[in-house]
Amino acid sequence: EIYRMTISDGLTAVANVRALHQFLDREVARSRRYGRGLALLMLDIDHFKSINDEFGHLTGDYVLREVAQLCNRRVRREELFARYGGEEFVVVLPETTLDGAVTYAETLRALIEGHTFTFESNQVSVTVSIGVSTFQADMAGPKDLLRSADERLYQAKRSGRNRVTA
Ligand code: GH3
Ligand code: MG
Ligand code: MG
Repeated sequence: EIYRMTISDGLTAVANVRALHQFLDREVARSRRYGRGLALLMLDIDHFKSINDEFGHLTGDYVLREVAQLCNRRVRREELFARYGGEEFVVVLPETTLDGAVTYAETLRALIEGHTFTFESNQVSVTVSIGVSTFQADMAGPKDLLRSADERLYQAKRSGRNRVTA
């Protein structure tokens, strides 16, 4: 139980950032050694601050839990879904090409856009932006892969949100 607490996020019960770094270190090493594909999605809830401001922090917390559960259910055993920070999540997809990861990201984006979020009889519209990247031979390590996905997430935000950018 104590071990579980060290690797899971208290609010959403999905993997936390520590678990993410453990998983990513191992998968980057594997990808590099055997030349296997490795993709990473960085997902950020759009205008989340407005959700907190308009409906309150408890509704914000509910949205975080619901988004996490929706996505986590889609993730296979050899993959990892983690809460990376406040309203940011990461999906790590071993053995996955950029095209495959973009298709996957689009599935998550559409799933969230189409889901009805209701908390204390308020219906809340929720969308996410997703940056997608793959590990490249010239990357030094996991940080470069995270940075690349984060840059693409920023592009998705800049170009209008509720979209996937690779
Ligand atoms: P953008 O579309 O550009 O991503 O805008 P945003 O409002 O989602 O982004 P911003 O970074 O301005 O706001 C993120 C907000 O998330 C601010 C912070 O208070 C809130 N937040 C972070 N962690 C939690 C949490 O655990 N619960 C709740 N309710 N809010 C949180
Ligand atoms: Mg954010
Ligand atoms: Mg956000």
